[in-house]
Amino acid sequence: MEVLVTGANRGIGAALRAAFQARGDTVWATRRDAGDAAGWFHLDVADPASVAALAASLAGRPLDLLVCNAGVYLDRDDWLAEGYPAAAWAETFAVNVTGVFLTIQALLPNLRAARGRIAIIGSRMGSDARAPGGSYIYRASKAAVLNLGRNLAADLRPDGIALGVYHPGWVTTEIGGPGAQIAPDASARDLLRRFDALSLTTSGCFESHDGTPIPF
Ligand code: NDP
Repeated sequence: MEVLVTGANRGIGAALRAAFQARGDTVWATRRDAGDAAGWFHLDVADPASVAALAASLAGRPLDLLVCNAGVYLDRDDWLAEGYPAAAWAETFAVNVTGVFLTIQALLPNLRAARGRIAIIGSRMGSDARAPGGSYIYRASKAAVLNLGRNLAADLRPDGIALGVYHPGWVTTEIGGPGAQIAPDASARDLLRRFDALSLTTSGCFESHDGTPIPF
């Protein structure tokens, strides 16, 4: 299987890359600091020119699975008192929402060629069912990408392309921060099972890494 993972240089993305490679899949790994490093593709999902360049370099190559993993968390606890910087809202949405859309849009020819599937790494924090406060920008961005994913799932169904949104668990990465409960490799192993189960029957799903459906 040919798989593309965005933000594969560290955290959950790196663990996904390793897990796919360990079972023999071919991984097109992207990182934003890569020039033309061997085995890597450069991709800054917030830069439309970078997304277009990636699509051009992959033209004509069928893609079985696109994993939109790249993301940022820029919220700070003290911002409610001091005001939330517009730049933080803009950057978070550019990466976590617009970046996902642009990547999917640019690679649709590759996905159509394989009747491929799309996995978006969302977050439970984007679920309407949970509103404990705080992390306003991140929560809003993950709610938006959940909405985006579910609507894309409807529009891509006629092409035979299934799309799922997945919560990876609270994972020990820079975004997970202190207190996280799951190692990236354990999350990645679980997520691969979820991706393998993704079909047109389950398209539009929002699931935790362990397979639990998350309300939205
Ligand atoms: P990390 O911070 O460890 O990794 C984030 C990855 O995204 C890095 O590879 C980073 O690259 C990349 N990235 C950031 N901005 C861009 C950009 N503009 N273009 C391309 N790549 C970019 O966090 P995680 O591994 O935890 O996060 C992966 C995904 O999982 C995110 O979407 C996150 O929201 C989601 N998630 C994580 C949870 C957790 O508990 N960890 C829980 C729920 C969801 P670089 O090294 O260049 O910065």
